[in-house]
Amino acid sequence: MSKKNRFRAYQQARSNKEASYSLDKQNLARMVDDSYNNNLKDLGPFPATILQIQKRQVISAAGNGFAVTDIPDGQPANYYEAYIRPQWFYSEPEPWFCKGFKVTPGTDGSLLSIGFEHPSLGVVRSHPYARSEPSANALAGVLSCGDIVMCTIEDGPDDSGHVRNITFTPVSVGLDKEFFAAAVKLGANPKHFFNKAAILLGQSSGTEADPETLSWSGYHDGQPSTSKPAKRTYIGNARSLFKGQTVYNGVLDEKFFSEVTCSLATYTGTGASRTFTIGKPRKYLILADAAPSFKKMNEAFKAEFGHDLPYSSINRSWEKQVSIKGDGITKGKKAARPGNSKHGWGVAIDFETGEPKYNKNGKTWFKSSTHLWLKENSYKYGWLNPDWARGPMSRDWAEPWHFEWMFRATAFKGEKNPKAWYPIPQEYYDKVQ
Ligand SMILES: [Zn+2]
Repeated sequence: MSKKNRFRAYQQARSNKEASYSLDKQNLARMVDDSYNNNLKDLGPFPATILQIQKRQVISAAGNGFAVTDIPDGQPANYYEAYIRPQWFYSEPEPWFCKGFKVTPGTDGSLLSIGFEHPSLGVVRSHPYARSEPSANALAGVLSCGDIVMCTIEDGPDDSGHVRNITFTPVSVGLDKEFFAAAVKLGANPKHFFNKAAILLGQSSGTEADPETLSWSGYHDGQPSTSKPAKRTYIGNARSLFKGQTVYNGVLDEKFFSEVTCSLATYTGTGASRTFTIGKPRKYLILADAAPSFKKMNEAFKAEFGHDLPYSSINRSWEKQVSIKGDGITKGKKAARPGNSKHGWGVAIDFETGEPKYNKNGKTWFKSSTHLWLKENSYKYGWLNPDWARGPMSRDWAEPWHFEWMFRATAFKGEKNPKAWYPIPQEYYDKVQ
C-alpha cells in the first residue's frame, strides 16, 4: 500500500466517530494500527515477514480440551504468534534502522531473531501482532524470523487495543532477503543463520530486462554490502548512432561491443627448448571503442612472441559478476561488486599471469613474461595495470592480470580514466587511441 493510500485510510478513520476518539487517545503507532482495523480488512491475503516469534507451539486434542506444548526454535509446530512486517511497510523506514531493534541469535546459534529492546517504542508498536491459523497437522511447518507468510486481516481490535486480528497460514512462502541483509548490518554473523541467509546473500534480485531493478547483497572486503549496476550515458564514437543512450554496467547491449578472438598458447619444456602450441581460437566481446587499441596491442605482442596475448576474460555480464562475487565471504572477497566491475563495460582484460604454462618465461604474477611485457608496452596502445592492482607494496590485494583501457571516460559519461601504479609518460595519458 502506498503512503498516499495509507494516509487516505487514516483520514477515513478520522471520519469515523469511534475511531476518531480512539485515535485521539493513541500515539502515532496506534493510529497505524487503527487504520488496519478500520480500513484494511478487505485487503485479502497479503505477504508479511515474521520479525519475532513470541509463541511456537504444538496444539493437539487431549480429552475434552487441548494440550499445548512449547516448541524450541527450528522444530515443527502448528501454532505461532509473532510480530510481523506487512508487505506495504516496505515503503516505510525499515524497523531495523530505528532505535529499539537488536539482533539476537537463536538458542541453537543457527537461527536469527530481531528482538525489541524497548517494546514501548512506536516503531515496535506499529508492527502488528499476528497468530497462525491452528493447523490440524501437528507438524505443519518450521517457521523462523525472516520467513514470509500469507496473512489475512479479520475483525477489529481485541480488548487490549492491540491488533490481534491478523492470522497467517503457518507455511513459509519465501524468505525476506532485506531482513537478512539488515540483520547482517546490525552485526549478525551470517554464519549463525547460514542455512537461510547464505542462500540469499550473494544473490541478485531483479531482472536484466529492467536494469533499474537489479540489486545484489552480500559481503565486500569483510563488510556487508549491496550494489546496483552503475548507470552511465554512452558518449563514444565507435557506436555514434547510440550516443546519449543510458547504459548499465554488466547489462550493456551487444551492439556496443566488437568481437575479438585469441588462441591461447601453451608452453612446455624449459630454457632454450621451451616451445608452445597454439590452441583453438576463442571469442570475446570488447567495447567497440576499446577494440582498435586492443587489436594493435595484440599485434605488437604477437610480432614478438609468435602468438596472441593470453587473455581469459574481457566483458562480463551482471550474472557472471554475481557468480564471481559469490557471497563475498566464502568466495569473491575482493572481487568487484556486481555492477561496478570495469569488465561490465568491456574495458578491462584479465591475462593469464597465474599459470607458468601460459608464460614464455615460465614465471607467474608480476614476474610473468605476459605482465612484464604489458607493463612495458600496453600504455603505448592505451592500456594499463591500475593503481589499486599494485599489491603487497600498497595493500593486501594485487591483480597483475587485470588491465584497463585508459580512455573509458571518452565512452561513458560519468566514468573516470584509470591511472597506473608505475610511471607512464604523460603524453600517453593525453592520447586517445
Ligand atoms: Zn579483471
